[in-house]
Amino acid sequence: MKAVVWHAVGDIQLEDVPEPKIQAPTDAIVKITTSAMCGTDLHLIRGTMPGMKDGTIIGHEAVGEVVEAGTGVRNFSTGDRVVIPSTISCGYCSYCRAGYQAQCDNANPGGKLAGTAFFGGPEAAGAFDGLQAEYARVPYASTSLVPIPPGVSDAQAIMVSDIFPTAWFGAKLAEIRTGDTVAVFGAGPVGQLAILSAYLQGAGRVIAVDHNTDRLALAQAQHAEIVDFDTEEPVAAIQDLTGGIGVDRVIDAVGVDAERPATGVPAEQAQQFDTEQQQAAPEGNTTGGGQWVPGDAPSQVSQWAAQAVAKAGSIGIIGVYPQTISSYPIGVVMNKNLTVKAGNCNHRHYMPGLLRLIAEGGVDPALLLTENEPMTDVMAAYREFDRREPGWIKVALNPAA
Ligand SMILES: [Zn+2]
Repeated sequence: MKAVVWHAVGDIQLEDVPEPKIQAPTDAIVKITTSAMCGTDLHLIRGTMPGMKDGTIIGHEAVGEVVEAGTGVRNFSTGDRVVIPSTISCGYCSYCRAGYQAQCDNANPGGKLAGTAFFGGPEAAGAFDGLQAEYARVPYASTSLVPIPPGVSDAQAIMVSDIFPTAWFGAKLAEIRTGDTVAVFGAGPVGQLAILSAYLQGAGRVIAVDHNTDRLALAQAQHAEIVDFDTEEPVAAIQDLTGGIGVDRVIDAVGVDAERPATGVPAEQAQQFDTEQQQAAPEGNTTGGGQWVPGDAPSQVSQWAAQAVAKAGSIGIIGVYPQTISSYPIGVVMNKNLTVKAGNCNHRHYMPGLLRLIAEGGVDPALLLTENEPMTDVMAAYREFDRREPGWIKVALNPAA
């Protein structure tokens, strides 16, 4: 089968690899009908998320059809349409039962403390073969796969594999209540869905901060009030918009600064592919060109978030901060009585509900799917995605084409 295979930093290839096989009774094999590209994949390609194993298939978003179920999989059979969650979880440990699938005790072969397991990631995440392929092996299929309700398209369902649950989770972390004024930092695909999620969870106002004009236009089309940090100081703009009080809640959909290269990655490789998971990062604080040492200063967005939020407000962080980052504006947090919640998304926990919302017809995340590329064009698609071609928000890959 064809798959997108990681070989080295800056070196991925579309190549023929053996089809996956059932390895445990709880596995299922899914024929992928739609996959997608995510900013996280660019992290892996650039090496800003290190530790990839040569030969790993990348990709962690997919919709497909069950073609084989292990003997232990009692709730799915051949032909079922499913979404595959990006994170892998067992479904039976105490964390999974409590809805913390990202902290599953069993999914990561590295052990209980090894971190979140996900498809197409580095060895620390389990080195599972990913989903930019014609077929994929899904461990713990019974409790991982999510059936797609009738009437929900692949283009809608692919958003539920990773980015819509992540955005929804961000709004939950931010503790949005009815009528709240919410700032969303980062208006990439996850930020856009965070705007949607904030409104769905009751926000009265949403302010979106980015500097990419396409993204700001899309945020405005969702009726967020837009702030361009290239043309105005975002904290001052937010203060101005809120009577000097600040916002009640912040969703950080940016994470660690996009333009800071990871140490050890040659600059030309680092520049070849962009970094940020949510593809929406501010670029303002690195124009001095100094060498970045991980953990040397709080990220720009974390400083803006802590300053822009009202006293006693709360911040939800879904933008990626690598484990090496140890700085955060904790003094501001403490002295303003702020609440900060963060985490890797527990995808499986939110997916059934989001699919129901889509099936009911009031919500259509597929509006953000701007590109649909045959997987045979994946290399060109990655380059265009990396350059943030105008209008490129979210890119689906079609393995069958
Ligand atoms: Zn578990």
